[in-house]
Amino acid sequence: MSADFSNKGIKTKAIHGGENHDTANQSSAPDLVMSSTFRVDREVSFSANKLDADAPYVYTRWANPTTDQLEEKLAILEQGEACIAFASGMAATTGVLLGHLSKGDHLIICDTNYPGTAEVARQTLPRFDIDVTAVHTSDPANVSNALRNETRMIWLETPSNPLLNIADIAAIAKIARNHGALLVVDSTFATPIATRPLELGADLVVHSLTKYIGGHGDAMGGSVCGARELLDPLRTEALSHFGGVMSPFNAWLIMRGMATLPIRMREHATNAMTVAQYLENHPRVETVIYPGLKSHPQHELAVKQMDSFSGMLSFRVANNKDVASRMMSEFEIIHYAVSLGHHRSLMYLLQTDDLAETSFGLEGAELEKYRAVAGDGLFRFSVGLEDPDDICADLERVL
Ligand SMILES: *Cc1c(COP(=O)(O)O)cnc(C)c1O
Repeated sequence: MSADFSNKGIKTKAIHGGENHDTANQSSAPDLVMSSTFRVDREVSFSANKLDADAPYVYTRWANPTTDQLEEKLAILEQGEACIAFASGMAATTGVLLGHLSKGDHLIICDTNYPGTAEVARQTLPRFDIDVTAVHTSDPANVSNALRNETRMIWLETPSNPLLNIADIAAIAKIARNHGALLVVDSTFATPIATRPLELGADLVVHSLTKYIGGHGDAMGGSVCGARELLDPLRTEALSHFGGVMSPFNAWLIMRGMATLPIRMREHATNAMTVAQYLENHPRVETVIYPGLKSHPQHELAVKQMDSFSGMLSFRVANNKDVASRMMSEFEIIHYAVSLGHHRSLMYLLQTDDLAETSFGLEGAELEKYRAVAGDGLFRFSVGLEDPDDICADLERVL
C-alpha cells in the first residue's frame, strides 16, 4: 500500500499519492494493467455484492490495480476516505443520483449547471418518481426554503457552468446536515487545488476527470469521493452493475496528468486573470464573469472558499454569432470546441435560448434573470496554458 501522505504538501500528494509500485520489477512509474480478468487462487464469490475489502482482483468491472491507484490519489487530494472512478463525469453523476435517490425522494439542485446533469435531473429522475426543485444556490436561504420532508439530496455545482456562480458549501452543508440530507458538490471547475468540499462539510464530491484533473484532453473519466459508508453501495450498484467503469488505460493517463495538477492550476489561474483583465478593458466586451475579478457577484465568497480562481471565465459581446464564426476560422491557437480544463485553450458559445429551453427549463422571470446576465449567449472560455500574449492576440483578431 502507499505511504501516509496526510502531512505532505499538495504537490507531493499529486505526484506520489496512491502510487503503489510493482515490487516484481521495481518500476518507478505505475504499471498499466489492462487485464479484464485475474487468475484467482482461492474461492471468491461470483457476485459483486459479496466482495469484501480484502478480496483479490477478480474482474476489472469490480476493481483493477491501475484504477485503484488513481482512486487513492484522488481520495488523498480531496481529503476523502475513499473514491470511485467512473468512465465519465456523467457516469459518476448518474451513479450518485440513481444510487442514492429512490422513488418518492426529493432533490434540490442549482438552477443552472452542467447541461448533462441539468437534463438528467429534469428529464430522467421524474420518470422514477423523484421530485426535483431547481433554485439559485448562491443564496443559501433559497436552499432552506426549498426543503421538504422528503428532501434527501442537495446538489451544487461551484463554480457553475456557464455563469460561474459560487455557492457557499459550508453554509449549505449545515442546512443539509440539520435536515438529514446528503450534500453533493460537482467541483469540476474548482478541482481539489482550489476547493476541498469534504473539508467544508459536503458528503460527496463529483468530478469530470475529463477536464482539469486529466488535463490534457485525451481521456474521459469521472469520480466520486467521500466517506466509505456512502461509496460502498455505489461501488456495487452504480459502478459494477450500471457498468460505467473506467478503462485502466484512462486511469493511467489521468493519473499521469494529475501529477502536474497543482502547477497547471497555478498557471491556468494566472493566465485567466490576465485574459479576464484584457477582456474587461476591451471596448467590444459587454460583460466578463471570472471569480477572481472584483466585479464577480460572489467575489468575496470565492476569495474565502477558493485557493485558486481556476481558469474558467465567461464573457459577452454583441453579434456573438458573427464573432463565433470568426473564431472558428481565424483563431490560430485557441480551439473553438466544447470541453474545458485542458492545456489547450478552448472556447465555445453557449446560446441562451438553447440552454434555457433544452437544459435548464427556465421560463418567465427566471429566464429574464438569466438573460440579464448572459444576454442571448455567453462565450465560455477555458483559458489554457499557452503564453497569455498569444491568447490575447487570438482574441484581438476576432473581437
Ligand atoms: C464535463 C462536465 C461534466 C460531465 O463530465 P463528462 O466527463 O463529460 O461526462 C459534469 N460536470 C461538469 C461541471 C462538467 O464540466
